[in-house]
Amino acid sequence: MTGGNLTRDEAAERARLLTAEHYAVELDLTRGDTTFGSKSTIAFACSEPGASSFVDLLAPSVRSVTLNGEALDPAEVFDGARVHLSGLRAENVVVIDAAAAYSRTGEGLHRFVDPVDGEVYLYTQFEPADSRRLFANFEQPDLKARFQFTVTAPARWRVWSNETLEELTQGTDDANTWRFNPTEPISTYITAIVAGDYHVVEDQHTVRLKDGSDLLIPVSAMVRKSLAPYFDAAAILDVTKAGLDFYHEIFDYPYPFGKYDSAFVPEYNLGAMENPGLVTFNERMVYRSKTTDASYQGRANTIMHEMAHMWFGDLVTMKWWDDLWLKESFADFMGAFALTRATRWQHAWVSFANGRKAWAYRQDQLPTTHPIVADIRDLEDARLNFDGITYAKGASVLKQLAAYVGEDAFLEGARRYFKAHAFGNTTLGDLLAVLEETSGRDMKAWSKAWLQTAGVNTLTAEVDTDANGVVTGARIRQSAVPEFPTLRPHRIAVGCYSSNPATGAVELTERIELDVDGELTDLPQLAGKSRPGLVLLNDQDLTYAKIRFTAAELDAFERGGIAALPDSMARALAWSGIWHMTRDAVMSGRRFIAIVLRNIEAETDISVVQNLLRQVHQVRGEYLDPANRPAADLAISTRLWEVLSAAPAGSDHQVAFGYGVVRGASQDSGFAKLRALLSGELTFPGLTVDQDLRWAIIETLAAAGRDDDGVLAEREAATDDTADGRRHLVAARAARPLAQAKAEAWRLVVATPDQPNDLIGAVLSEFYQVGGEKLAEPYVEPYFEALAAVWAERSIQNAERIVSGGYPWPLTSPDLLARTDAWLASDAAKAPALRRLVLEARDGAARALRAQECDRNA
Ligand SMILES: [Zn+2]
Repeated sequence: MTGGNLTRDEAAERARLLTAEHYAVELDLTRGDTTFGSKSTIAFACSEPGASSFVDLLAPSVRSVTLNGEALDPAEVFDGARVHLSGLRAENVVVIDAAAAYSRTGEGLHRFVDPVDGEVYLYTQFEPADSRRLFANFEQPDLKARFQFTVTAPARWRVWSNETLEELTQGTDDANTWRFNPTEPISTYITAIVAGDYHVVEDQHTVRLKDGSDLLIPVSAMVRKSLAPYFDAAAILDVTKAGLDFYHEIFDYPYPFGKYDSAFVPEYNLGAMENPGLVTFNERMVYRSKTTDASYQGRANTIMHEMAHMWFGDLVTMKWWDDLWLKESFADFMGAFALTRATRWQHAWVSFANGRKAWAYRQDQLPTTHPIVADIRDLEDARLNFDGITYAKGASVLKQLAAYVGEDAFLEGARRYFKAHAFGNTTLGDLLAVLEETSGRDMKAWSKAWLQTAGVNTLTAEVDTDANGVVTGARIRQSAVPEFPTLRPHRIAVGCYSSNPATGAVELTERIELDVDGELTDLPQLAGKSRPGLVLLNDQDLTYAKIRFTAAELDAFERGGIAALPDSMARALAWSGIWHMTRDAVMSGRRFIAIVLRNIEAETDISVVQNLLRQVHQVRGEYLDPANRPAADLAISTRLWEVLSAAPAGSDHQVAFGYGVVRGASQDSGFAKLRALLSGELTFPGLTVDQDLRWAIIETLAAAGRDDDGVLAEREAATDDTADGRRHLVAARAARPLAQAKAEAWRLVVATPDQPNDLIGAVLSEFYQVGGEKLAEPYVEPYFEALAAVWAERSIQNAERIVSGGYPWPLTSPDLLARTDAWLASDAAKAPALRRLVLEARDGAARALRAQECDRNA
């Protein structure tokens, strides 16, 4: 990987020696479009005078290094990633003046030029260790300091940083200098700069504190100018204000960072980042086309997640990346929790159960899974740890913890934690200590079972009945895979659902709460009663475990039994259960598709509907026996056109099913209908075929070779000449079922360095299309041959997208597994993080093969 690594041991040694005190960082953004001036003046103490240490810096060149007034030769002390310092005194000042490089891959100071108007937009993204691409510093979370940024920028720009402005100086030469107030003590990875002629909406919010005083918080939201017509800043700021009120209520610690700016930025690698006072968001959360309420809920969830970090992560920070989960699990839990308490999305736990947790379960069944508390040896480990375990499993486990110790004890623990460790760094033990205090429970055993072991348990209800269907005995069986055999204590609810003989409606007849522990847990409450139609384990979704259904229950689902369930959480659990049974090859992909198509129309939760449509698409491409695909294609296409026609005009369901028919299109008739939708010959009242839907149609037609030799996409790009339009054009070209189109796409993203990550993602998601297996074959060898160089030469975000997205999954076959194994046994597979990505891709292919076999034999 390009850029220096840093090990945990090195960081611990540096933290033992040094105390960072104050940074003055001067940036000059007027020096052209490839590099900028970066001068860092660091005051720091050293506990062992005479010792040596180093400053981190990733920059093309260093002009000068001065330590305690003495000039050092940059050629001698700078190795491309570190500035080595020796003969340190008790108190030191080092000044490092460098030319740093703008990023095109979203790591460091990213520079974007808007094709619509030529405007330049800059923003930073640092986690875990890219602030050293902006300025020289001690890049580790436990060397907190105060940072004062001074930025010289073109006069027509505005500049933002974590803190409020101290002074704006009008310069000569059409440039201004913005000096910001020093920050509170914070870690390097959450420092931030945003600059450019952004469109900004400013407001303020007053929070009433517990002592009766008022705290005024200036708030703002910004986006690049060409997206301003689509920018619903008022809605964004409403959620922001609701969050500020809510967190002050439950955390009882005043917001510590003054102002709260939200910048929506282009070509962003992730969802958002919790820089104190200046949160950055992916601008895809500003919608150019009609989208469903699931998108708005998702965005609100992200706003709440980042805001929770202001306390958990920014105010109190993990000592090293081992405890990344401390902040991410908590923020992920809080994202959903805050939605249910402080916004109109009171059912947010349903989408959490069906969407967010699916991510956790998937990751936790990979061969590379790890305990929530991870062993992070160095920065490469850290970078790959922003995964489904750290976020979604961690949050699921905290939800179980809140059920275990009670919500009050859980929140009181958080309050004590903030007060005890404000502006400091912590480890897991610090959190467990306050929770033990507030709950009176032994947190060590809990932590051992849930945080320090990997893997997911499966819960199955075993119900014995007599000839009349009366229960004679019932129990819950807990199991685990041999690789991760831990069985855990679970606090769960069991829902018993049966249809009412009088009305035919399915009703909850009984809900039993109990603790499950060990392999078998008796369920005596059912004895002597008629067997319920459905015994739903983990009803209410309190714990983290997979559940199984009986053949009779699945038969009932296929007759509409999921749609008949009265409660959206119960349905979400049923949906998740059949998804896991399909992925685990204990139920056929055909049956999954049949159950979804039978029940989806009645599903009211739109985020669940959209998740199901994605899953159907995945099952169709990966988990069906190829011989069964044509029949499934026909069933999917027929049913989705039906439900689209029946969806209420202008509803979210209509939008979701609109995208559903596009994704699920097959057969001449299906493609002909898509063309008619595009041209306007076919219409559905209330459904606007707007820009995003048009691109989705064009990309599908391109993949099917029905796009008039590429003319459709070229013509669309001429009318939508935006950053989005250009990306869609390249994706549509990559989708075309032609050897030449594939060769060009490969050259663009694999053979050309420094492409924006969202372009790589868009191209690779179209590169391998269902049905395009033959075209993928020539890229199996180039893929494995390219891995070592991609890993050595690209930025991590770039490399990760190519390694995972470029894996030739549609060729899922024993041959592909054998080829992957040969690579894994080679010298090229030595880098642990690269190896991890390839192992995970291989596991997806192996799982698909098992599912296909199940589908073949079902
Ligand atoms: Zn986070």
